[in-house]
Amino acid sequence: MIRTRFAPSPNGPLHLGHAFAAVVAHDLARTRGGAFLLRVEDIDGERSRPEFVEEFFRDLEWLGLVWDGEAQFQSHRLESYAQAGERLKAMGLLYPCRCTRAEIAAAATAMGPDGPIYPGTCRHKNVDSEGAAWRLDVARALDMAGPLEWTDELAGIQRATPEIFGDVVLLRKDLPASYHLAATLDDAADGITLVTRGMDLFPASHVHRLLQALLGLPAPVWHHHPLLVEADGRKLAKRRGSPSLGDRRRAGEDGKAIAEALRQGRFPAGISLSMGLHQSP
Ligand code: GLU
Repeated sequence: MIRTRFAPSPNGPLHLGHAFAAVVAHDLARTRGGAFLLRVEDIDGERSRPEFVEEFFRDLEWLGLVWDGEAQFQSHRLESYAQAGERLKAMGLLYPCRCTRAEIAAAATAMGPDGPIYPGTCRHKNVDSEGAAWRLDVARALDMAGPLEWTDELAGIQRATPEIFGDVVLLRKDLPASYHLAATLDDAADGITLVTRGMDLFPASHVHRLLQALLGLPAPVWHHHPLLVEADGRKLAKRRGSPSLGDRRRAGEDGKAIAEALRQGRFPAGISLSMGLHQSP
């Protein structure tokens, strides 16, 4: 049975772009007789706020999107992330790194999907691991995993090229996980068979496919949907003036009608769908 999920991060209110993502994940599950799950990606202690989680529940209900089972919280799963981190360390695939963003930006010679590519400064150094982040030695991991492919329902079969990110951080210095590790482990733990999310996260799936292979996790199919963008081609964001779903709800707008309009491709003036790859601003 197909299982999809909507996985918002409670570091801000949801807006129309999130509503579109939730509608896509919900409808793909429902039209195929599957399950639609909600996962709150709340491991970023500095930016996550519980009040946004309460708002997520209200917003989804208002949109008429009912999820199956209990909402899952990444903050309850830190132990499973730490265990996977230990496994990858034992496989000799992680190394500690204490480089700052500024040091990386100064030493980098190429840009990746998330900014300057880490140039491998600490890969073969004896770095004190106390309070360090842990990075994946991607070349070594690819040697171990061999050539990998993954499938996006819309874009077709992809050859996995996680090296476009360089050696990504898998365990942050303040957390036994990073987005890539937590999302990959959770999708497997939740039995997600169709990972639906925006095109902005398309490149991340190269890394997730590699992690699945290393950790012996099943590979789902992906569905990276187009993003709602403003006239300048940038993703919708509250800070650029798009009202949040909460603002619309409190103003008395009809959430189910909004969800229906999104389904039919009817968007407010100045907002359109873009299939292009958009960097997060
Ligand atoms: N938490 C991510 C976000 O809000 C989505 C992650 C995912 O769907 O894999 O952008």
